[in-house]
Formats: sequence, C-alpha cells, structure tokens
Amino acid sequence: MNIILLGPPGAGKGTQAQILVEKRGMIQLSTGDMLREAKDSGTEMGKVVAEVMARGDLVTDEIVIGLIREKIQGENGGGFIFDGFPRTLAQADALADLLEETGQTLDAVIELQVDDEVLVRRIVGRAEEAAAAGQPVRADDNEESLKQRLMEYYKKTSPLIGYYYAKGQLTSVDGLGAIDEVSGEIDGKLG
Ligand code: ADP
Repeated sequence: MNIILLGPPGAGKGTQAQILVEKRGMIQLSTGDMLREAKDSGTEMGKVVAEVMARGDLVTDEIVIGLIREKIQGENGGGFIFDGFPRTLAQADALADLLEETGQTLDAVIELQVDDEVLVRRIVGRAEEAAAAGQPVRADDNEESLKQRLMEYYKKTSPLIGYYYAKGQLTSVDGLGAIDEVSGEIDGKLG
C-alpha cells in the first residue's frame, strides 16, 4: 500500500509517518529529510537547496522529482509513505507517472487537517524546545520562514486537496488531537 500524507508544515506528517513505519513496516520517503541530507552533503545542489529552504520557499519540482524517482525504484517493504511530497500539481502528476511506470498504485491520500494558529505554536515550540535542549534548530523554524512556508502551502500545495478529492483518493483526518488519536484515526481509514 502506497500513501501520501498531505498537510501544512507542522501538521504532524513526519510524526505520523514514523508511527506507520513502526506499525506497518512501511518506508517513509520524506523529501524534506532528503533535501536536508543534500544540504549537509555540501554539494553545489546542496548549497542552492539550503538557501531556498531557509527562506521557506519550495525547491524546484525537478530536484524533488529526481529524488523521489531514485527511491521509488528501490525496496518497497510494506509500501511507501510520501511525506511532504507532492507539494505542487506538477509533482502530483509526476508521481502518478512514476507509479504507473513502476507498476505501482497510489492507495490513499491522508490529509491532516489543523488550523494555522496551532501550526505556528507547534513549530515555534519545536524550535524553542530544541534550543533549550542544546539541539540544532532547523534554519526554517523561525517566524519569518514559517510565514513563507505557510504561504507556499496555500498557494501551491493546498490545490492538491481538490485534485485528490476529484480523483476519489482523498481521506481527511482531524490532526488536532493527541498523537495516538490521530494515528488511530489514520489506522481506521487505512484498514
Ligand atoms: P515542513 O512540512 O515541516 O515545512 P519539510 O521537512 O517537509 O517540512 O520541508 C522543509 C522544506 O523542504 C520546505 O519548506 C521546502 O523548502 C523543502 N521541500 C520539502 N519537500 C519539498 C517538495 N516536495 N517540493 C519542494 N520543496 C520541498
């Protein structure tokens, strides 16, 4: 089973993806994590990506589609969880093509619904906690980049909700509850 986790920054996609990995042996494909790895690798591509991400802008479709293309050919385990991808309609179309080429299907798109106030609090809280614990704070977890990430989400990613609804693949889940409540709801929907 291959699924997409869709939702704004701070909605809990990464947390829920981790739970699905543990419970179902699925494989998490987080483009955010892949891009942070590319950034840390110090390559030319990594340098460009670092600046774009720190601003809260989206990296080009070409780069992220390339990253996903590589991974999708590999071990599938209990299925892929696409976390933070697709984020644009072009990425969604590319994913459909890649799955078709590799003889795979997209089985569900789980939208995590949360309100913006909560997002800002979660992300600013996450940055403060990390800082207090002496851990590295993500370069884009500050208020200015966060505003830009939200803007990018509403301009470019939120149309995917209608896109997958029209394809009959959308399932919405209330992302405001406790972590295990949300994961319980996701479990119920995935069966
Ligand atoms: P969050 O959803 O919490 O903002 P992510 O780790 O998913 O965090 O993404 C962090 C950043 O990585 C994004 O703001 C963007 O710059 C870049 N990024 C991640 N996935 C994509 C994607 N599919 N397309 C374009 N840019 C992406």
